[in-house]
Amino acid sequence: MDAQANLVAGGQGRNAMFEGTRWIGFVGTALVIIAYLPQIHHLIAERCSAGISIKAYVLWLVAGILMLVHAAAIGDPVFTALQGYQIGASALILYFGAKYKDSVCETHRHAPVGQALVPGDA
Ligand SMILES: [Zn+2]
Repeated sequence: MDAQANLVAGGQGRNAMFEGTRWIGFVGTALVIIAYLPQIHHLIAERCSAGISIKAYVLWLVAGILMLVHAAAIGDPVFTALQGYQIGASALILYFGAKYKDSVCETHRHAPVGQALVPGDA
């Protein structure tokens, strides 16, 4: 096998590996989506910004935009979807976090941030 053929064969192996592990990436993306939901729900439903750091979410938003540019450039569907969601979730949290900046729900008024909201929720 000459060098060119080796390169092609190696490239095909790499592509097969990317294809074969893509579903793992989509499962990871689904977990990220699920992980954000309680925070977003609490922020909007309770109008409670306890524990929301605007500075941190600005960084998440900028990071998401930068990584989306790269993900789209390399044509990776997993990271494109992940970063698209990351940007949407960060923007939503930033918007409502700023809107409810000084608003805290009854639970967080009496419990330190990080303490379980409901029994068994840790
Ligand atoms: Zn709260």
